[in-house]
Amino acid sequence: MSSLSPPRPLLAVLTSAAIKKTASLFRSFGGSSFHPDWEARASVCARCPIAHRHGKHLYCGKPLIHQPVRPLEAGCGCPIIAKAQDPAEHCPLTAQYLPTDLPTDLPTDTTSCPCQWCAAARAKSHEIRAA
Ligand code: SF4
Ligand SMILES: [Zn+2]
Repeated sequence: MSSLSPPRPLLAVLTSAAIKKTASLFRSFGGSSFHPDWEARASVCARCPIAHRHGKHLYCGKPLIHQPVRPLEAGCGCPIIAKAQDPAEHCPLTAQYLPTDLPTDLPTDTTSCPCQWCAAARAKSHEIRAA
């Protein structure tokens, strides 16, 4: 690797940012349905210390436009409501606030995904079955 090459996590974030921008445009034209549990996902975000308020909106970390170069631990910079509503999205961090090392904008098996949203959904499902 050349000394001028960015570290791999940075490349991953930049690539992810380009995909997210495309996905965001797609959503804004009504090309995607809402995730059925988006409100539960957004409520996980509302309790997450990574969440960042900017104006009237909550973001996963600082908005991407304000911090285009960021470690994965800083969150993805997406607006939380739009991210939670997108069925293909996942939280980028585990319950320990470490990167999941999974694509956050591609379908992932929710039964094994380590992200905070999927972990919370599994915990809720176990509670319901145990009741
Ligand atoms: S890290 Fe996950 S839970 Fe926290 S704000 Fe981002 S998407 Fe939401
Ligand atoms: Zn997940």
